[in-house]
Amino acid sequence: MPTASPALRQAHRAWNLLHVNAAQARATATRAIAAAEAAREPAAEGWARLVGGMHCLYYGTAPQAEQELRTAERCFQRAGDRPGLILARATVGRALWRQGRFSDALAQVLPLRDEGMRVLNPTQRAVMLNAIAGCYSAYGDSAQAFAYMFQALRDAGPRRGRGFDTVLHCNLSHELMQIGDFEEALRHVGAGLARCREFDNPRLSAVLWINRVTCLTELGRANEALADVRILAGMPATADGRGTIAPHYETLAIAALKAGEQRLGAELVARALADSPPRLPDEHLEQAAAAALLALAQNRPLRAVKALLPVQAQAQDDAIDGQSLRLRALYFDVLAEAWRRAGRSAPALAALQHWQTVQRCQAQRASQARYQSATLQTELLRLQHRLDETDAAKRATERARGALVAINEELSRRVREVQALQEALREQATQDTLTGLFNRRHLNDTLPQLHALARREAQPLALVIIDLDHFKQVNDRHGHAAGDQLLAAFGELLASQSRRSDVACRYGGEEFCLLMPRTDAAAARRKAQALLRRWRAQRFTLGKTTLEGLSFSAGVADTGLAGSPDALLKAADDALLAAKRNGRSRVQLNGQADADADDQALSSLMSP
Ligand code: GH3
Ligand code: MG
Ligand code: MG
Repeated sequence: MPTASPALRQAHRAWNLLHVNAAQARATATRAIAAAEAAREPAAEGWARLVGGMHCLYYGTAPQAEQELRTAERCFQRAGDRPGLILARATVGRALWRQGRFSDALAQVLPLRDEGMRVLNPTQRAVMLNAIAGCYSAYGDSAQAFAYMFQALRDAGPRRGRGFDTVLHCNLSHELMQIGDFEEALRHVGAGLARCREFDNPRLSAVLWINRVTCLTELGRANEALADVRILAGMPATADGRGTIAPHYETLAIAALKAGEQRLGAELVARALADSPPRLPDEHLEQAAAAALLALAQNRPLRAVKALLPVQAQAQDDAIDGQSLRLRALYFDVLAEAWRRAGRSAPALAALQHWQTVQRCQAQRASQARYQSATLQTELLRLQHRLDETDAAKRATERARGALVAINEELSRRVREVQALQEALREQATQDTLTGLFNRRHLNDTLPQLHALARREAQPLALVIIDLDHFKQVNDRHGHAAGDQLLAAFGELLASQSRRSDVACRYGGEEFCLLMPRTDAAAARRKAQALLRRWRAQRFTLGKTTLEGLSFSAGVADTGLAGSPDALLKAADDALLAAKRNGRSRVQLNGQADADADDQALSSLMSP
């Protein structure tokens, strides 16, 4: 999370430590809660409380855990943090399950699955799947439990699971024990314990050791479990040791007694009975079995029967949620032995028959579970693949969209470039497109240079400004295209009649000018008059119409009179105005009183 606040970072650190170093995770979470509360950051508080709740589930009591997790749930709701919310709810499910509320737990966790698969990262997903697995396990639905656990184990492999894979090995071993596959369960215990050596999580190690004790006992190798039993018996059953919940003294007692360690067994049975009353159905059965085994070891079979009878109805009931076949089998095994040792063969036989039924059931469930879990795993995998595919498709679309955006940006950058270039070219262009003459811009650039040159060389520079007469009428009568044609023709004429050193321009609209270096106004005037004669003589055929006798007016000035380029322009312009005023179709010299006599006004346009 790149923009995580300090409180959120601390909460995530606590989350990552949860299975690696339980005490440190707890301390970090406590600090993160304080920081998040101070900063009013519900998301950070949610994550820290989630860690607190999960820690409490391991090391404290389930009701305490539930309270903390519900607070986390509210924080995530306020923060709109979906992954957090899903995990908080899944873990509340675990807390309910721990309190024996199995159906509530399943109802709590199942609806989270599909969104969880979508929004959680692999480790988080594993936590959710494990919670679902736990509920199914409590229901005795091993097939579902296995499917979810194996999927979770795939998500939280040793490299990315941050220790959570250890929890999964532990739970898998538990589930395998439920279906009587103790060898396979031992294998997972071994894998879990090997990982646990890297961590500081005494509760997790303790549960794995307890599972190893159970497996070895069931496999008739209880004496191999004694080392673990002694370690576990020595561990404080508090938050500093293996946690306050389910110390499993009865499990340890059974192992010790089956290994022939009567004194240790007696002590452990006493501890089991002194412990707070058992909460889970299995604990009832196991306590009774442990007490009975001790009585048998003490050679007091009737006392053993007495310890067992209060839970017989429970053991015979195969509709009790959370009651395992394994412990029912253990119970009936001990009961049969107790009756046999008491010399009562009929109830002994009945107990043995119960034992057989449960065993058969267990074997059936084991094979079913193996088959179904494979199917379910495939289903989960397929779901996972679909999600991956959607993800990949989304990523591909995003990539394509990204590429498109980049291309668009590049394109508009190029368009802007071209536009700027065209703009620059337009600005730099010195030619008029219609006539091919220079444009006004070029005149503005050239005039000062030629003016300065003329000054330096003490040579005259003449300027003629030409304005076609009554040109508006041409447009009005013959159309704009005809007007353009005439403008182009005049440009051609002007170009053909000027010297290479002259600068012939289209000054704008129907106005032209001719800049003539080393020429005085009189010579320029003659030149302009010759041009006027030629122009008047030209005939134009426009469709059915013939145009002739066109004229222009011109004003002429030279540097002899004008001290600056602007003054020269103005002088020529003034002369042009005078030419118009004096009747058009003439060339007027600046300062000249009247137009030349031969300049005949031709103010009407000829038409057929
Ligand atoms: P005057 O004798 O007083 O100069 O009359 P005029 O009609 O020539 O002058 P005026 O300034 O009233 O009109 C100029 C006309 O020149 C109007 C405009 O339509 C035309 N004109 C300017 N530039 C172009 C062009 O590039 N093509 C065409 N077809 N006509 C143009
Ligand atoms: Mg004009
Ligand atoms: Mg005109």
